[in-house]
This record gives sequence, C-alpha cells and structure tokens, in this order.
Amino acid sequence: MFIICHYSEIGLKGKNRDFFENKLCENIQNNFNKYLPNIFIKTKRLPGRILVELKDQACKDEIKNILKNIFGIANFSFVIKSSQDIKEVQGICLDLIKKSKALLQSKSFRITAKRSNKNFHLTSKDINVKIGDYICKNTDKKVDLEKPDINCFIEIVNNDSFVYTKKIQGPGGMPVGASGNALVLISGGIDSPVAAYYALKRGAQISFLHFHSLPYTSQSSINKVKKLIKALEKFGARGRLYLFPFADIQKQIMIKAPEKLRIILYRRYMMRIAEILAKQKKYLALFTGESLAQVASQTLENIRAIEEPVVIPVLRPLIGFDKEEIIAKACKIKTYDISILPHEDCCVRFMPKHPETKAKLGEVNKVEQDLDIDGMIKNGTSRIEVY
Ligand code: ATP
Ligand code: MG
Repeated sequence: MFIICHYSEIGLKGKNRDFFENKLCENIQNNFNKYLPNIFIKTKRLPGRILVELKDQACKDEIKNILKNIFGIANFSFVIKSSQDIKEVQGICLDLIKKSKALLQSKSFRITAKRSNKNFHLTSKDINVKIGDYICKNTDKKVDLEKPDINCFIEIVNNDSFVYTKKIQGPGGMPVGASGNALVLISGGIDSPVAAYYALKRGAQISFLHFHSLPYTSQSSINKVKKLIKALEKFGARGRLYLFPFADIQKQIMIKAPEKLRIILYRRYMMRIAEILAKQKKYLALFTGESLAQVASQTLENIRAIEEPVVIPVLRPLIGFDKEEIIAKACKIKTYDISILPHEDCCVRFMPKHPETKAKLGEVNKVEQDLDIDGMIKNGTSRIEVY
C-alpha cells in the first residue's frame, strides 16, 4: 500500500530541505513503529513529496489516525502506483472513478494531473485531456472543472505515476525535532499542555519541567503531568520529564515575602531553575502556557517581572488566545479531560487573596535580597527526578 504525503513549508527551506525532509521521514517511520508495529516498509523522498510504503493488510482508519498527528504533513493520500504508460494510467483512473463511493450519485468528474518530471512526453494539460476523454467515453460522467463530484489526481514523478481521488488534511506545521530542543514548564492545568502542542507543531522537540510541593501537596499533580505527557506523545513528544521539589523555596517565600508578591516570586524562581536546567541539558528556549491578561500573574507588568531574571528566550504560544479557544484546542488534542481532574497545584495551594497585578521590579528585587534561596535551588537541582 502506498501513501503520498505533501508538505507545505518544508518546500520553502532551500538548502535545509534535505534535513527537514529526512526528519519528516524519520518521524513517520517512528510513529508507525510505535503505534502500528510491523506494517511499515519504507519512506522515500520524491521531488516535492514523500512516498510511504506499508504492508497491504493495514487498516486505513488506523493509518489515517497516525498521519493526522504527524507535524509537517499538509495533506496525504492513499495512492495507486503505476508505470507512466498512459494506457495503464487511464485504466486505473477509470477503475477508481467507477469504484468511488460517491459515484452512485455523482454526475461529474475532473482530472488533475501534475508532472514533477518535466521530461515526461505529455504536459499536464495533455494528460488531463487524454484521460478525461477516455473517462467520458467509458462512463456517463461529464467533465466539470469547477465543482466536480470526483476529482481524480495524477502525479507523474520520476519514473512512476500515482493516482488518487482523495486528499486527507494533515496537521501542517514543521517536523518535530527539526527546530531544536526546548523545555516546557508544565503545571497540570489546561494551558501548558496546549502550549506544548504548539511547540511541537512548529518543530521543537520538547522536554518538560514540573514543580511540585511534596510533601505539602499530594502526588496528584505529578500523576496528572505524566498523563498529559502521555497524551502529547502521539504528536511526537519524546523528551524527558523533570520533577523539581519546590516546597522549600515556596515556604521561604511564604514566610519572608509580602503575600501579594508570592506568585510573581514563585514564577521568578521557576524561571531561574528552568534556565539552569536548560543550560545543563542544552534546551534552547522555555515554553509556558501564559496568555496575556488571563489571570493576575499574566499582566504585561508581571510577565516582565517574571522573565526579568533570565536571558533564555521564554516563548508563550498562547499569548493571544482566549481561554475558550485554549479549552477548545485542549478538547481537540484530548488533554482537557486530564487537565480538569482535581489536583493540588503548588501555586494555587498558597495563593494570595489579592495578588499583585502590576509588579514593580525595584520592589521585587528588594524583597528577593532578603530571601536565602540560592542554596535551596542547588539542593533542589540535586534532587530533581527524571523520567
Ligand atoms: P496552566 O493551565 O498551564 O496551569 P494557568 O492559566 O493556570 O496555566 P498559571 O498557573 O499562572 O496559569 O501558570 C502560568 C504558566 O506557568 C503555566 O502555563 C506553566 O507554563 C507555568 N507553571 C505554573 N505552575 C507550574 C508548575 N507547578 N510547574 C511547572 N510550570 C508551571
Ligand atoms: Mg496553573
């Protein structure tokens, strides 16, 4: 069984094109090996597309479910591969149009040929006409170029022809891993898994960092985060999970800092710790699930104060999303039901009644001078658990 995958933006990558295409091939192979073992035969890079060969007995619906989650694929089609003998291609087209489920009610068709092999003796238009005529003669269908009931695509590539009638939409984006490695700060809430999804969508391979407050909170946030990461695996997430024991640092902040600054101070230390880990493990950027003005800690003033202690890029894919849009996406990618399970968030648990919404950097810095946290960061870092 053959499938042609078309990509969109990889086509624009000039000299890096080999790298992006190879990454996409590798991801296709890995996902089949992971989710439908033993059916994968090979991928082959053809000009402008990727050909996937699978064993014939494979179930199309299962294959679709895999390909629909592989970033970098704009659309894909189950194709019939043939020689470039126009008579053979004609026969295949006729067969396909006759077999098409839509055929019973359908009255019209069109042929859409494309040749990437410009040495082929017929132009695309010639092919359309030749095969169109043949179909007209052998069925009662009429040609309709604007709104055909059946669109029969023919691609002439290298020494083969590929024929199909359906393009199935892929997820778009870039192949996971093609954009480098990043660290996602994941909380167990609704937003950060969606941010992780968008990091993957643009080709970042991601690992995760979660701050927990054991023993003051239960294991529940950790279990949730593990489930969320599992749900993100189907989109290509293959990195690690780091669990950082944050309780001592929180306690110190609770005791010594003004209540209204708690959240901002927690977040500033999270950023510092994430940056240390990123440097050690060579992650190029941090991702968070923040959205502008969604909650008190996410005003511009506070975002600035939270990010101030670090130089690593902090990327926020959800910055312009409404909560409802984030929830809709979370439902679609199947993280929502996990995110809404009850858990004790390390920050919610110690939430101030009136959090600061316009943090002043001078004030925050001054408060931090009275905290003695460097040792706690070192100690916590040595106790990070890795999965
Ligand atoms: P989420 O739904 O992702 O928890 P949120 O709207 O509840 O987001 P906050 O709780 O203010 O917002 O968190 C903002 C971001 O900070 C989160 O999206 C996440 O990236 C990071 N973050 C918050 N708490 C933690 C945590 N315990 N461990 C790791 N990252 C966290
Ligand atoms: Mg949260």
